[in-house]
Amino acid sequence: MAAPVKAEIAYFPGCSLHASSELYDRQCKTVLAKLDVALREIADWNCCGATSAAKVDDFLAIALPARNLGIADATGLAEMMIPCSSCYSRTLVAQRRLAADPALAAEVNAEIGQKVTGRIKVSSILEVLLPKVASRELQRKVTKPLAGLKPAAYYGCLLTRFPSAVPVPDDVENPQGMEVVCAALGAEPVEWGYKTDCCGASAAINDADQALLLMSRIIKDAVARGANCFVTTCPMCQLNLDAYQGQVREKHGIRERLPVYLITELVGLALGMGASELQIDRHLEEAVDLLKKLRLA
Ligand code: SF4
Ligand code: SF4
Repeated sequence: MAAPVKAEIAYFPGCSLHASSELYDRQCKTVLAKLDVALREIADWNCCGATSAAKVDDFLAIALPARNLGIADATGLAEMMIPCSSCYSRTLVAQRRLAADPALAAEVNAEIGQKVTGRIKVSSILEVLLPKVASRELQRKVTKPLAGLKPAAYYGCLLTRFPSAVPVPDDVENPQGMEVVCAALGAEPVEWGYKTDCCGASAAINDADQALLLMSRIIKDAVARGANCFVTTCPMCQLNLDAYQGQVREKHGIRERLPVYLITELVGLALGMGASELQIDRHLEEAVDLLKKLRLA
């Protein structure tokens, strides 16, 4: 039988997938390859400026992601995946603003080498996975259903909410995309109330108590709804809940430990990859024991 043709998608990893979440970068490439999607990282990309530029310089906040969009447009590919919610949000907003304001688009295009055409579709990893669920390609490839895994799908505060008019691919306050993917993998996602709440990442340095309080609400609700882990698509949401969970437990008297999985880890496991192949033991919060207990690792 002929090998299936791989669909090629442009890929913007952003700074976090080349630094603190390098693991996620690797998983995105290997796991999506198993679903016949090849990621082509765009050349010479720059930081989208989400945190810094957006606060101080509106033109730069558009021009930085616009430069990446211009490079992506020039690939001729139809779609670009951006796993980080912050980069995804910034890039979509820039694309929208440029489409709505020809004068701004002309000004930005005069500054960048490759022009933004607006042709390319900017996607989160969920927008790449969900069509695979709809076509049942994902379900057909599941060899190890994630029975007993009860994830609280954590979208964080950016994935579905944008600072300007961007059409939203999921329900703003009660998104379901991650639950649909998890159910297709044989897991039992819980319904809970804090899936789009902010984890306080930006406050972690200057107001640590507030950040820990926000995270404690998220963890307590997930536990109360019967979750035995979190799953997220955002490297920053993953890192924050992973890195601070010990402090949150101590300060807010929480006994339960919830591993914080990236969506690629759940997809990879269900497609037959091992926990060590996925390097799940590199999490800060212990994440392999639960998988062993459920005979998934
Ligand atoms: S969102 Fe943050 S990590 Fe991602 S590219 Fe933009 S600035 Fe860098
Ligand atoms: S890391 Fe926290 S602050 Fe950043 S997008 Fe995720 S939930 Fe929001």
